[in-house]
Amino acid sequence: MTKLNASELQEKLSRKVPNAWEKVDETEKEKAFAISETYRAFLSHCKTERACNAYFVKEARNRGFVDLYQWPQDQPLKPGDKVYVDHQNKAVLLFVIGEQPLSKGLNIIGGHIDSPRLDLKPNPLYEECDLAFLKTHYYGGIKKYQWVTIPLALHGVIIKKNGERVDVAIGENPEDPVFVITDLLPHLAQEQMQKKMSKGIEGEGLNLLVGNIPYGDDEIKEPVKLAILEHLYQTYGIVEEDFVSAELEAVPAGAARDVGFDRSIIGGYGQDDRVCSYTAALALFSITEMVERTACVILADKEEIGSYGSTGMMSKYFEYAVAELAYLSGEALPESALRRGFMQSDALSADVNSAFDPNYTGTHDLKNASYAGKGVTISKYGGARGKSGSNDAHAEFMASLRSCFDEANVAWQTGDLGKVDLGGGGTIAWMMAQYGMNVVDCGPALLSMHAPFELCAKIDIYMTYKAYRAFLLNYRKLQITTKKSM
Ligand code: MN
Ligand code: MN
Repeated sequence: MTKLNASELQEKLSRKVPNAWEKVDETEKEKAFAISETYRAFLSHCKTERACNAYFVKEARNRGFVDLYQWPQDQPLKPGDKVYVDHQNKAVLLFVIGEQPLSKGLNIIGGHIDSPRLDLKPNPLYEECDLAFLKTHYYGGIKKYQWVTIPLALHGVIIKKNGERVDVAIGENPEDPVFVITDLLPHLAQEQMQKKMSKGIEGEGLNLLVGNIPYGDDEIKEPVKLAILEHLYQTYGIVEEDFVSAELEAVPAGAARDVGFDRSIIGGYGQDDRVCSYTAALALFSITEMVERTACVILADKEEIGSYGSTGMMSKYFEYAVAELAYLSGEALPESALRRGFMQSDALSADVNSAFDPNYTGTHDLKNASYAGKGVTISKYGGARGKSGSNDAHAEFMASLRSCFDEANVAWQTGDLGKVDLGGGGTIAWMMAQYGMNVVDCGPALLSMHAPFELCAKIDIYMTYKAYRAFLLNYRKLQITTKKSM
């Protein structure tokens, strides 16, 4: 071997992760902007898990996907068939049937479509000092101070006692009113400002201001509240008790935006985890060729509150749907084929990571952090304090993934969620791992994650799409060979 000079040797042996914008040509740059454009529109319009569910189900149906539970029992599923599951209007499963039997495993991408927000309480409406408010209970991990004095929209459903469903979406159109949580003026905030940030705004203080005009001039108690009730009755035909069977979510009002002079970043509410859900579904929808292994995208609900509940990843609807697939595919011994299939599967837990933010140093090990603009992030493990609670992906799987991504020219980076012993976090990875399948966290890194206005670099959105597409289409387990050490 000819002796290399130092820079040649460095080029050959060292790992360098460049800014991903530098890795793409003009054509790909245009694609990155084009995908971000449709994503931005999606983000602006789909502000709740129900809205996302409706969007993905509609997009799937438009592309010829058929409801799995409507599939004719006498007609076997065959390679190339496309089916979906709409689970309780809040979670979606998408499948493209592969050429190999299910027992050979699936290529699965699992993301979530719920995002942190403020939910109305079952008895929310009250009046105080001539102002009417709606009480909320926050959903998911929020920094409460970020949610005051910003315009909020109200989205969701009210199911009346007679079964009638009323859809509510108010605050998004420029002519709509919005709602807001007040904050103290600085002049009177000396005491508030001395409090810990976590105590500056209290959970019970997250009340939406919704009105000020009293009803008539009769001597009744709470005339402003009554006027609001009258408005709700006139507009939606509901009475106060109907809040009991409602799911109304206060979310940041307004559209997602381009950020920066160069428009390189998308800013908007709900990017955790709709950026992964959108790119995963788009990747699956882009598949027109036959796939070797059945490709699956899971869009789960309730991740932000621990994945409990019948639409969360801890529920068995995914398992049951795959069992249905095995049955409809006419596999011999469908039960054991199913179990073997799960154990042979490979999965990406499609969730966002925290990009290192130079305005807040000391949070990350900079050698193992992920950065905005360096491509999709793979997180081998999450967890906290000694990887506790982490799925920790296997070296064999990581190697297969590197190979898959490199072959597809995906710009990727690794990313720990934060410094050892500082923080940590969980995703649905460990729930998927319960089936004995390979799984690793993989998605773009956000700035200001869980804030009302989260940020994601457009090149990372594009690389996430590319990574997911390559995974669904071309991922294969590497043949592991043994090399004797010298
Ligand atoms: Mn998430
Ligand atoms: Mn989250």
